[in-house]
Amino acid sequence: MKKSKGMIIVITGPSGVGKTTLSNRLVKEYDDIDFSISVTTRNPRSNETDKAEYEFVDPEEFREYIADNKFAEWALVHGNFYGTKRSTLKKALENKKNVLLEVDVQGGMQIKGQFPEDAVMIFIAPPDHNELKRRLKGRNTDSEEVIERRLFNALKEMLYIDNYEYFIVNDDLEEAYRVLKLIIETEKYKTCRREYKF
Ligand code: 5GP
Repeated sequence: MKKSKGMIIVITGPSGVGKTTLSNRLVKEYDDIDFSISVTTRNPRSNETDKAEYEFVDPEEFREYIADNKFAEWALVHGNFYGTKRSTLKKALENKKNVLLEVDVQGGMQIKGQFPEDAVMIFIAPPDHNELKRRLKGRNTDSEEVIERRLFNALKEMLYIDNYEYFIVNDDLEEAYRVLKLIIETEKYKTCRREYKF
């Protein structure tokens, strides 16, 4: 039987759908899941600190990371660059941990292409467009223009849902979290991820 190998949990969904709330909860509850801290050129929000939510860099540094082949995936999302460092994935998997990536559809597709066996692809969908708008406005973190851009992009992102193995409609947070845990627990039992001696 193959040696147990960590999974790369890819969580994608339109901005404002509740990905971060669900991811944070999962990482807090499971010691064996590490959150992958992405690199971004976006400005930090008032509640964010460098290297906690993101590694905040300027576009020049981001370009250097690309040139040095430091990223497992990167993309331009809502006008800013975001990327996942190869070293983050490597470190987690070497330590036999699972790693959780919160990335957009472009990043999700790149990870799926590179790690078809390790990636567990989960899409979080909003109940409907109006609810997504309400949530984005309620966050009070982004300008009207940014919200409009994110809502427009949501329409494009939803087209990728069929590329994901699972999708969860985040209507009720508790129910969404229950299903997310169910998926993770089930994936852990896949034969390819188990270590077993008889
Ligand atoms: P936010 O600016 O709201 O934190 O994130 C905006 C979007 O960027 C979200 O859809 C989020 O999933 C995506 N994102 C965050 N980190 C990464 C990353 O490392 N790579 C990619 N491709 N997308 C990311």
